[in-house]
Amino acid sequence: MSNWVLVVNCGSSSVKFALVDPESGNESFHGIAERLGQGSQAGEITYQYGDEKERHSLPDGKHEQALADIVEKLHSLGWLEQVVAVGHRVVHGGEYFSDSVRIDENVRDKIADCIRLAPLHNPAHVIGIDAAKAAFPDLPQVAVFDTAFHQYMPEHAYLYALPYEMYREHGIRRYGFHGTSFRYVAVRTQTLLDNANAKLVIAHLGNGGSVAAVDGEHSLDTTMGLTPLEGLVHGTRSGDIDPAIPYLLTEQFAMDAKAVNDMLWKESGLLGLSELSNDCRTLEQAMDEGNEAAKRALDVYIYRLAKHIAGQMVALGGTDALVFTGGIGENSSYVRAEVVKLLAFMGFALDSAKNEATNRGAEANIASAQSRPVWVVPTNEELMIARDTVRLMEQG
Ligand code: ADP
Repeated sequence: MSNWVLVVNCGSSSVKFALVDPESGNESFHGIAERLGQGSQAGEITYQYGDEKERHSLPDGKHEQALADIVEKLHSLGWLEQVVAVGHRVVHGGEYFSDSVRIDENVRDKIADCIRLAPLHNPAHVIGIDAAKAAFPDLPQVAVFDTAFHQYMPEHAYLYALPYEMYREHGIRRYGFHGTSFRYVAVRTQTLLDNANAKLVIAHLGNGGSVAAVDGEHSLDTTMGLTPLEGLVHGTRSGDIDPAIPYLLTEQFAMDAKAVNDMLWKESGLLGLSELSNDCRTLEQAMDEGNEAAKRALDVYIYRLAKHIAGQMVALGGTDALVFTGGIGENSSYVRAEVVKLLAFMGFALDSAKNEATNRGAEANIASAQSRPVWVVPTNEELMIARDTVRLMEQG
């Protein structure tokens, strides 16, 4: 008999799910329901388990139907009994949550209150929590927040230099994201270093990217802010820009606020700079074939990343290791090599053979013998969510 956790990530039009063994991290079953919540349109759900891949339509196209379908599927496979809890990824916990939490009415209401801070994500989480409760009425539900890990940031790191009232009355401050990934990678790296108090600068580089300064158990600063727009150059998001730009665009180019917002979130970053792709791998290939726009985009990405890594060291007063994770961090030896070259003045250098050889889920110290440690540590947010879920169930 296994004790599996169903890990659920509800977005506005999708539900990603995985059945995770919290001991081994094995994912015996996972999938995605897509095109949900689009009015009368049908959705679609895809399951993968063992060598099987199955897909069928969800005529109602609702999140509720997706969760009910998952229950039915688990039942037909004889696995339903082995699911002991549901763990939800929740993007924004505001200042309410500095750890994961068992979901009750009060917690659900606070997640709903954070819709004002994350209007794109939290509405779907609330729908997902309600749908999961209807589908699994007897199972405990746990919320694991992207923001929670950063709730120990000191005031000087989380405040914007806006009128203080903006923070006091409206909670406008820096929150940070990718916290579940940072926590997983921090614990794993500290185990590898055999130092539970290690100070780490971790770069999580996926379609969105952020860097965090981790001191033992807590993050002291990070590059994302109120939203996941701030900081690094992302796949389609701008990262840091002069805050005067949005107003200037509305004044001079008659763009409305939504058009500016869409530009910053969806048309900028690697995609905007390269006019080619938001995908790092595609850009590296294009650059190798002589595409100058791809090189330009990667140059800006790498320079900004190195600056932010150096900036995060201020929060820690140094670091015991620099760590790369996320799709780009785990796989792009090019990005790692170029970033570390810019950080040579801080005592970092790579062993190029080790760097080239580390990808596809490999874990390694890729630093040269004289360098301070530089690790690649693959992230596993689902496993962290599953483990938190079990921990909170055991606490009762
Ligand atoms: P998400 O933030 O959506 O979880 P991922 O962590 O999967 O994204 O990261 C996606 C990014 O990783 C993409 O830009 C992709 O091109 C990049 N990536 C994956 N494999 C490689 C590779 N071998 N070389 C360079 N970039 C890669």
